[in-house]
Amino acid sequence: MSCIFCEIAAGRIPARKLFEDDQVMAFHDVSPQAPTHVLVIPKAHIPDLDAVTAGHGTLLGELLLAARKAAAQTGLYGGYRVVVNRGADGGQSVGHLHLHVLGGRPLAWPPG
Ligand code: AMP
Repeated sequence: MSCIFCEIAAGRIPARKLFEDDQVMAFHDVSPQAPTHVLVIPKAHIPDLDAVTAGHGTLLGELLLAARKAAAQTGLYGGYRVVVNRGADGGQSVGHLHLHVLGGRPLAWPPG
């Protein structure tokens, strides 16, 4: 089954890429919810947070470090938010694990 984020990771669908390495990629969200809205994905297909196992520990660390790097590269010195949506009630619409990095304006809490 095709997965849009797998296609982006493979370079078959274009994206506004910030950076990538062998494990992760960061690119701008096509429908930004804040002045800066970057997605960080593992290149390997992991459907959602519930599919993560203890064996993914190193990868999870890489994803968080990539989120921090994306915030720094986009100049979010005033702060930012990292979000993982999981499942329908969590607002997940793409079935490939991803971190949202949001910033560039004050973000309300709690989120909607
Ligand atoms: P979520 O709702 O948490 O699953 O987040 C999925 C995100 O992917 C949404 O914010 C979408 O705007 C974003 N998105 C979907 N397709 C693309 C794409 N081709 N390029 C960049 N972002 C995308």
